[in-house]
Amino acid sequence: MSLGNRQAAETLLHGEFGVYPSKGIRYALSLTQTGLHIQRLVPKPDDDQRTVLPILDMVGCHTLRSRGSADTFAYFSIYSYPLKKKKVTMGSSRTRQRSVRTFRVDESTEYNKNQATAEKWATAIKCLIQGIPISGETELVPEILPRPRRLMLLLNPCGGRGNAFQQCHSHILPMITEADISYNLIQTERQNHARELVQSINLEEWDGIVVISGDGLLYEVINGLMERHDWEDAIKMPVGILPCGSGNALAGAINFNAGFEQAMGSELLLNCTLLLCRGTILPMDLVSVTTCSGLRSFSFLSVAWGFISDVDIESEKYRHMGSARFTVGTMVRVASLRTYKGRLSYLPVLDAHRPICRSITLAANGSLIPFQRSQLHRTISDMGLCEERNVMYKRSSASLDTNELPSFETSPSPGSPTALHSSSFSFDSVLDPLHQEGLQHRGTEPTTFYQVNGPKDDLLPPIGQPLPKTWVTVEDDFVLVLAMYESHLGADLFTAPFSCFNDGLIHLFFVKAGISRAALVRLFLAMEKGTHIEMECPYLVHVPVQAFRLEPLTRKGIITVDGERVEYGPIQAQIHSGLSNLITGSSKVHMTSY
Ligand code: ADP
Ligand code: MG
Repeated sequence: MSLGNRQAAETLLHGEFGVYPSKGIRYALSLTQTGLHIQRLVPKPDDDQRTVLPILDMVGCHTLRSRGSADTFAYFSIYSYPLKKKKVTMGSSRTRQRSVRTFRVDESTEYNKNQATAEKWATAIKCLIQGIPISGETELVPEILPRPRRLMLLLNPCGGRGNAFQQCHSHILPMITEADISYNLIQTERQNHARELVQSINLEEWDGIVVISGDGLLYEVINGLMERHDWEDAIKMPVGILPCGSGNALAGAINFNAGFEQAMGSELLLNCTLLLCRGTILPMDLVSVTTCSGLRSFSFLSVAWGFISDVDIESEKYRHMGSARFTVGTMVRVASLRTYKGRLSYLPVLDAHRPICRSITLAANGSLIPFQRSQLHRTISDMGLCEERNVMYKRSSASLDTNELPSFETSPSPGSPTALHSSSFSFDSVLDPLHQEGLQHRGTEPTTFYQVNGPKDDLLPPIGQPLPKTWVTVEDDFVLVLAMYESHLGADLFTAPFSCFNDGLIHLFFVKAGISRAALVRLFLAMEKGTHIEMECPYLVHVPVQAFRLEPLTRKGIITVDGERVEYGPIQAQIHSGLSNLITGSSKVHMTSY
């Protein structure tokens, strides 16, 4: 057994416990670095069957106490979301389902001693979930845990099919509550609202900004952070995404990076929320994109021209279909395939065969400085920006825990705010995003950005000026040009399997005119599994680059940056390696070699 395997198998804690509800059942529990092993002792089973709850499926652990004064027992509940088989029309698939296991500590006749044991188990489990290193020698006291993270959640009620609020209530809030995350949930009211909001927040007050939407809202957040005078600090604020849009490319990349099977819809959302609860952060490359009028913006996903940007923008009218809008849009565009004349220049990366993926793991709270701010209660607030909507939360007397344990109250672990332990909410007025007045959906007009901050684009001469000799230029008729820096272009579009968050590379793809409709469709179908590269289609070219310039020679067309339309004309871009921080929940860097 290797040292790593031996450490993983090492028993950190062992104990014998009852359960809730009692029924006379007793279990022996052993906690290792990777899972909780559960073996039934009473009634004695016929075989030696053990159940293992993997740490990777867990989001949190709370200690509880009985309300009955005579009760000296202490309890701890483990919240996990394992994959379970689900029957679907054609065969079966797997879905994450919430599972709560509550154990009773009854070794002592004194409550305090039982409570200390329950606390010890809860601390160890939380450390393992959050990636805080512990061993058999660690003194497992709650003080070794970082204080609960505080996240700003920005929800776009118009993202995807417009059901982000419902998804948030049914999937996200219960899970992050179990993970002891404090949050402020803000609904955006219009395009650029999130971008303006993050320009004025106090960075000290947050451990991360998480969008509950598609990629477009994160684009706003990143550019809002870069527009601040303190952009160098601001852009280091960990950002995250919980996919509730129609374009969920970054969520697809996060899901892949964690080693999960490709997922869509609620499955993808559950996976990403689980990863958010773990909280690992990786650096993410940003690309500085300059359009013809000299406006600069920062992109984390893609620059597209031709087929892909046409589909993205033209399929806005099928928005009610969710991500299926891209499939319909693709079919429509294939039927009337266009080609575009253009000049594409790029600075190739010659030694890009083995992309170097630096991976760092920051502490879950991202800071080592002792935290002294006032406690933030979980609120669903509008920060006074949309008072008329009055989206307030009312703490319910019931909690997720007490729903299952009606006669118990939760005992807060030191360092976490008491208010956090009432963990389900009822809403005075729940916004129905589909019936809100005054909310305008994005138009398909280009967005204007005034980005003056940011690192210098040292590889790019000003637009219109000649490029250095080291650059390569292709002048041709194109079906599409796509520059991307993540593995996914949509939750089920595995376009750049070899890409990772901080490889310092722009993956430039182009498809030349002459490709048949059937071959183009085959390419897109193969992209679902990422096998389009192996097809060796002579019209498809892929080059890893550090910078590129695209000069459209066809007068009309659409260019998008991260799926958002920008002004049409010459555009150029350069990578800035690891400029931002992304909450990935997994430090493992998954890479497909090429
Ligand atoms: P999707 O993937 O469904 O397109 P996005 O997160 O990309 O979802 O958001 C789509 C657009 O909606 C973005 O341009 C974003 O700026 C804009 N937006 C954000 N909040 C609102 C709002 N409250 N009303 C209308 N548009 C909004
Ligand atoms: Mg990359």
